[in-house]
Order: sequence, then C-alpha cells, then structure tokens
Amino acid sequence: MVENDNFIEVPFENRHQCWFCAEPAAGHFTFPHQNHLVFNCQHPTLTVPSCAECTSAAAKAKVRNIWQVEQQVKKFLLRKYKKDLAIGLNWTQEELANSGFEGGSFSGFQKSAWFMYEVAKGRVSFCGWTLVLDGIEIEKDDGSDSFQFDGVAYPSIEEAIEHYSENFRLDCVFLRQILAKIGPAKFGQAVRVCRLYIGATPDEKSRALRDF
Ligand SMILES: [Zn+2]
Repeated sequence: MVENDNFIEVPFENRHQCWFCAEPAAGHFTFPHQNHLVFNCQHPTLTVPSCAECTSAAAKAKVRNIWQVEQQVKKFLLRKYKKDLAIGLNWTQEELANSGFEGGSFSGFQKSAWFMYEVAKGRVSFCGWTLVLDGIEIEKDDGSDSFQFDGVAYPSIEEAIEHYSENFRLDCVFLRQILAKIGPAKFGQAVRVCRLYIGATPDEKSRALRDF
C-alpha cells in the first residue's frame, strides 16, 4: 500500500494507539504531506497511527517537524477539552463523589466528570513512543518546551498559564509577573497567590510583587 509507506514501527503495547494521544487509532497521519510544503524538515517522511480527531488537528499544523505537529495537536486537545480538564482543577475525586449532586440536574455530570477529566488528562499528557523507521531511530529534535504541572503535560508554560487564568479568572499578567519572580517550579504557589489577589487593585498587586 503506497499510502502506508514510511510507517513507523509500533511497539506491541502501543499496537492500537494513536501516536499523539493513545486513543484507539482509526487511521494514520503522514508528515510532511503535500498540503503543507516543508523545505527543511530534518527527518524522513513519517507515517504514524492516529485517531480521527488528532489526524484532523495535525493536518492543520503549519510546522517543520513531527514533534512540532505533536505540540499543535496537544494545544488543540487542551482547547477542545478545557472544561473536562478544569474538573481536576476544581475538585478532587473524593470531593466530586461527595459533592451532593446525586439526583439533581448535575447527577449526570457527577457520574461522568472524573472519567472525562482522566481521559482528557491522559490524552493531553501522553507522550508518543520513540520514532523508529526501518530499524533506525529518528532522533528527537528537543526544542520542546513541555511543562508539567499537577499530572498534566502542557505543550509549554504558556498553555498552563492560560488554562489556570481562564479557569480561576486570574489576572494572567500578574501570574506571569509572579512566575518571573519565583520561577516556574513554584507554579502552584504562584497560582495560589494570584487567587488571593483576584479582587485586588493594580497598586496592591505591585506592592505584593515588590514584597516577594
Ligand atoms: Zn489521537
């Protein structure tokens, strides 16, 4: 089959998985492809197994290599499933189980919410297996800015800032300023501080920044 040329090797334990998100792979995605011409792609043409959702997101990526495509797919999944991902920001599994939503109009939500969160988190955080073509490992171009926090791997810290700012209605400029002072390793602390200053005036915020 011509269209399956350059199909990467798939480890046994990944044999039914999408390379981008680990969901069942119904199809495949090839990069580079004819709809987006790349003149300086460092790797040979590669075909990876892919689910329908990731295939369509990947096809829109205007980038130079397969790992950058992966980043774009993750950004797409983060945006599409931000409500599901927010469940883990707002509740723990126990809190949700004891939330008292049974029987009311939120009972369906209570039943499925944690599962939806785990699925979305797993898909966004999944890291595709090493690419091997005809027995040769394709060396990863590690320009990746991936940022891990609370069990979720974000394409970069920007997406984490966006996700938390949106969910908690935080001042994202203030959050960035705090992070610049205390460092991304203290992301959780930066978010907590920001939440304390939700209703604060610009003056109060600059004073808080000075005191750090
Ligand atoms: Zn997928």
